[in-house]
Amino acid sequence: MPAPLARDERARLIKVAKRRAAKHWPNKDGRCPACNLKDCEPFQTAQRFLEAYSEPPDPILKA
Ligand SMILES: [Zn+2]
Repeated sequence: MPAPLARDERARLIKVAKRRAAKHWPNKDGRCPACNLKDCEPFQTAQRFLEAYSEPPDPILKA
């Protein structure tokens, strides 16, 4: 279980994580358009955060 976060703080961080995931969403050759990397750390971090904290899990992450 992730550590508890205040509800407002969690909502804010989820919004930031979704925005970040959308910005760093891999294009069709698997590269992040912002970083031009295959293993984009901001994207992976945002995804991991959303898996842990988004409630209910929201599959619509791409903007
Ligand atoms: Zn990236």
